[in-house]
Amino acid sequence: MPDLISVLDTDAIARRVADVAKQISIDYKDGDLVVVGVLKGALVFMADLIRQLTLNSFMIDFVRVASYGDATETSGEVRIVLDVETDIRGKDVLIVEDIVDTGLTLASLYRHLEKRRPRTIKICTLIDKAERRRTDLKPDYVCHQIDQGFLVGYGLDYAETYRNLPGIYNLKL
Ligand code: IMP
Ligand code: MG
Repeated sequence: MPDLISVLDTDAIARRVADVAKQISIDYKDGDLVVVGVLKGALVFMADLIRQLTLNSFMIDFVRVASYGDATETSGEVRIVLDVETDIRGKDVLIVEDIVDTGLTLASLYRHLEKRRPRTIKICTLIDKAERRRTDLKPDYVCHQIDQGFLVGYGLDYAETYRNLPGIYNLKL
C-alpha cells in the first residue's frame, strides 16, 4: 500500500485559490475571457477557481491532452485528444492547469491555441514545479510552488486514482 503524506490541506488550497481568483478578476476586468481547463487534472481546481471570479461574463471550455510518457513523467510529445469548441479568435484565453512540471505539455498546448489567433494567452496553474522546467514557459498565475515529490489529490492523479481526495498529498510508492 503506498503512503500518502499531506502536503496541502483544504484550507491552504482554498486560501490561494481565493487570492489568485481575486487577481484574475482584476486583470480581466475589461477583457473577453475564455477559461480553458486542461482535463482531467484541472477539473477540481477550475471548478473552485471559476466560482470565485467576480467577472460579469466569461466562458469556459476544455482541452484534453495526452502525452506518450509513463505514469510519472511526460515525454514531451503531446497529442490534443479533445479540442476547444469555443471560437477563441480575438479573445483572452486563460489556460488552467493542475501542474506545470517540465512545461512541455503546456508549451505544446500554447502553440496549438496560438494558431486560433486569440488576443492573449495566459497560464494559471495550481502547482508550479519551477525547478524542473525544460522550456522557457512561465505560468502567469501560480497557487503553490512545490518542486519535490509526486503529488495526488484535488484532481491530481496517479494512474487515474486519488483525484477525489480533497487535499494534496505526496505519494510515496
Ligand atoms: P509537463 O509536461 O512535464 O509539464 O507535465 C505536466 C503534466 O504532468 C501535468 O499536467 C500532470 O498531469 C502531470 N504531472 C506532473 N507532475 C505530477 C505530479 O506530481 N502528480 C500528478 N501529475 C503530475
Ligand atoms: Mg495534466
